[in-house]
Amino acid sequence: MLSDIEIAKQARLKDIRDIAKFLDIPEDMLKPYGRYIAKVDHRYLNTLNAKPNGKLILVTAITPTPAGEGKTTTSIGLSMALNRIGKKSIVTLREPSLGPVFGVKGGAAGGGYSQVLPMEDINLHFTGDIHAVTTAHNLIAAMIDAHINHGNELGIDLRKIYWKRAMDMNDRALREIVIALGGSANGYPREDGFLITAASEIMAVLCLAKDLTDLKRRIGEIVIAQGKNGLVRVKDIQAEGAAAALLKDAINPNLVQTIENTPAFVHGGPFANIAHGTNTLIATKLALKLSDYVVTEAGFAADLGAQKFLDFVAPTGGLFVDAVVIVASIRAMKYHGGVSKDNLNEENVDAVIKGLENLKVHIENMKKYGVPVVVALNRFSTDTEKEIEAVLKNSPAKCVLNEAYAKGSEGAIELAKAVVETIENVPSNYKPLVPSDLPVEQKIELIAKEIYRAGKVIYTDTAKSKLSMLKKNGFGNYPVIIAKTQNSISDDPKKINAPSGYEFTVRDFQISAGAGFVVALAGEIMLMPGLPKAPAAVNIDIDENGEITGLF
Ligand code: ADP
Ligand code: MG
Repeated sequence: MLSDIEIAKQARLKDIRDIAKFLDIPEDMLKPYGRYIAKVDHRYLNTLNAKPNGKLILVTAITPTPAGEGKTTTSIGLSMALNRIGKKSIVTLREPSLGPVFGVKGGAAGGGYSQVLPMEDINLHFTGDIHAVTTAHNLIAAMIDAHINHGNELGIDLRKIYWKRAMDMNDRALREIVIALGGSANGYPREDGFLITAASEIMAVLCLAKDLTDLKRRIGEIVIAQGKNGLVRVKDIQAEGAAAALLKDAINPNLVQTIENTPAFVHGGPFANIAHGTNTLIATKLALKLSDYVVTEAGFAADLGAQKFLDFVAPTGGLFVDAVVIVASIRAMKYHGGVSKDNLNEENVDAVIKGLENLKVHIENMKKYGVPVVVALNRFSTDTEKEIEAVLKNSPAKCVLNEAYAKGSEGAIELAKAVVETIENVPSNYKPLVPSDLPVEQKIELIAKEIYRAGKVIYTDTAKSKLSMLKKNGFGNYPVIIAKTQNSISDDPKKINAPSGYEFTVRDFQISAGAGFVVALAGEIMLMPGLPKAPAAVNIDIDENGEITGLF
């Protein structure tokens, strides 16, 4: 099979204005970035209030192997197949971060015959949204140090500054640094560090904001440090207006197309551990007004991205979820069934059946939200007939083989039909599992026991003291986002398959007051990844005509 970029180059793209016309987006609301990418004015959404919403399909996954099990690829394939069977559909996705593009995982524009295009633009710089987020983030950082340098009226404690610098790169050397060296003209030396832009609260805020006013308000609320009179927020250093101004274009959803010329919004890209892990609410809401079936992807597995979507994102945006598609792969189930990473390509039906336990937990979890579930088995070329049959026969929920990677929409017709049939015949009773008015500890208890299957939640001393600080500052009943490993349903990456009854440890808390949640940290969460020994970057190249190779 051809590489992703070779397949992408063979595709015939339509002028983006024609894609917009298909969605009835008026010309004055469209801001083309070249021929194949356009931004849609976010204010267009305000003119569509009278239109009914389409159905919302949330794509999530079982606990993956580190390579990813195909949520993006499945989301794109499903949306293309829905269009193919005559249902108007838009897929909404996150923007790829350059960290994984150059690291292990590669880009995030789908794969095989299920891609969003132009993939080299989407994966590299795109419309500059991530740069805008980086710059807005770093403006705030620069203004903090300037404030300290010029007298520090707010009494910011140099040892308690929570706002780091940001960059869209995997660069472990910048995790912990010392800044302002070189004499008094350069300010006050202190420890600092970088996080990757996807982990910036500005990214989370951009993805949750309703409009520019809400964006500015949320940025102003962000807690950046401890000062002499308590918590210091962005509004205390008056940075929110300029930061929001830097995001004036980033707030507008990016319209692109799939390899089969169906519409796609690729907009915003927050992490699914310390943030909520889905594309902008504006893009999803706009898509719901412009099509009958919106397919959206939540980051990581269902215990992370889908839980956050169903308990936090959808209530925040006033969204109703009509169905959940859980992506499963045979290689991941074999992994959960005990097969080592190096032997995942060998047939092992017993391991697959054992690993179905992981899928079962995620299905049960999604049903706790009252949403109907369809399992999409993402077919890899190494899967054998016997293994596939074992999954289709033993899956605890309706399960359909999906071959969109190898065949495009044709490979996902059965999945699209199954999803439509489910939505038409099994009405969703979607309701969040976590009531919004519970205290933080009770929210964590609910998620840990019901979703992560823990027996008991324990708090370290650090977590306990942070929690009392949060309560003192009025965050005691805030929504909770739990940051934990994506490699297990539990807080321990080594506990594969379906762990239960274990002790779940909360180690620390962070406050994301702009995004509107408290982050409970359960494990070491990497906010600035590093490059591996052989990064994807070494295979990426460009020739004299600007032809790029090696992107995937
Ligand atoms: P996720 O969104 O779950 O992280 P992706 O859809 O991005 O996963 O897929 C992860 C990687 O696996 C991508 O490089 C993609 O091209 C590849 N991939 C996905 N599905 C298949 C498949 N069926 N066969 C081979 N490779 C696949
Ligand atoms: Mg993805």
